[in-house]
Amino acid sequence: MSVVARNVTVCPDVQVQQPLAVLGRDVEVPLVNGEKVTYAALDYAASAPALQRVWDDVAAYAPYYGSVHRGAGYLSQLSTDLFEQSRAAVADFLDLREDDQVVFTRATTDSLNLLAAALPSGTRVFAFETEHHASLLPWPGRGLEVAYLRAPRSVSEAVAALDAALSTAGEGPKLVCVTGASNVTGEIWPVAELAAVAHGRGARIVLDAAQLAPHHRVSVRELDVDWVAFSGHKLYAPFGAGVLAGRADWLDAAEPYLAGGGASRTVARQIDGSVAVEWHQGPARHEAGSPNVIGAYAIASACRALTEAGFDALQAREQQLIERLRAGLAEVPEVRVLTLFGEDHPRVGVLSFVVQGWNSSHFAAALSAEYGIGVRDGLFCAHPLVRTLLGGEEAAPSECGAPEPSLPGERSLNAIRVSFGAG
Ligand code: PLP
Repeated sequence: MSVVARNVTVCPDVQVQQPLAVLGRDVEVPLVNGEKVTYAALDYAASAPALQRVWDDVAAYAPYYGSVHRGAGYLSQLSTDLFEQSRAAVADFLDLREDDQVVFTRATTDSLNLLAAALPSGTRVFAFETEHHASLLPWPGRGLEVAYLRAPRSVSEAVAALDAALSTAGEGPKLVCVTGASNVTGEIWPVAELAAVAHGRGARIVLDAAQLAPHHRVSVRELDVDWVAFSGHKLYAPFGAGVLAGRADWLDAAEPYLAGGGASRTVARQIDGSVAVEWHQGPARHEAGSPNVIGAYAIASACRALTEAGFDALQAREQQLIERLRAGLAEVPEVRVLTLFGEDHPRVGVLSFVVQGWNSSHFAAALSAEYGIGVRDGLFCAHPLVRTLLGGEEAAPSECGAPEPSLPGERSLNAIRVSFGAG
């Protein structure tokens, strides 16, 4: 296994010291090959380390928090205030329209499932088969009609394919679901163009911004999308909280995503023994139970930190790292970078590749064992996309389980992903 890594130089010092330095501490693995090395966690697309500033904000608030929207005491009032301020901070971050609302969820997957549950019955949903499973899977099995569009090979093909699909979709509610940046290739999708097509054909559009929001400013007004979903743990906040933001009308008309306290305004026992419930309008309708106030507060802190750092500066730094990585990989003839729209298409700090003749899982394991470089191998919860990018090669049956043992020299069953950010 050591031979795999030793013979191939993968941009040797792209250890992305910068983000780790921003955290104010180095993450160290005590011994690799008998030496102490800095451990480079190049898996930000899965979860980015929370910023020190976010931890500090949370630590400062933690001793004072109380239940929200319930208590009469000072701490409850304070927490309610901070929870609602967090909502407002997210609304600013996303440049929401006046009437839009912010619902706090558990993560992007939860946000998109919430939206799927809230769609008017009979809604036709359109998604490219290239989506992450979180954007691909919430729609079927709910009485919705779902159309998966084939993987486009250019921006114009994507726009034309959506237009063609919507042009024959007829009347009735329609929703397009599109990713902002691919978690596999890092490529940035033409969101504004797809939104224009969707609206031109009477459809609404939801943006899966899980990978875009940590790297690029996302303006709901400028992109003209109807909803946006993202996860705190990819945006330099801790695990456990996410956001669904956007149009209030369909959300207010839907049954609550979870039934329970907080979502209900009044509950009255009926003569026949049943209960009559009047549900809240607004975000509370879909936030039943005690909300993750700390998670929401942490997301708001991360939103402020990124805004203050400035996306122009963050992108400039990230582009330098991307170019360095690409240049390093280009020196290795066996490496093939996976791309839908072409290697020069704009991307966030996410890049996947295969090394001809090597098993990706072995290669990734060797990078970790030999160099302390932590990448990801697998199909990245986007099985149809990775299979397409591997050119029809038979992919491993499971993303999470290790593929069948194989020897160096076998073809790639899955891919290797490097991802980072400048946050
Ligand atoms: N959408 C994209 C593009 C992603 O990359 C991911 C996670 O990798 C998700 C959705 C799901 O995010 P979460 O696991 O935080 O729900």
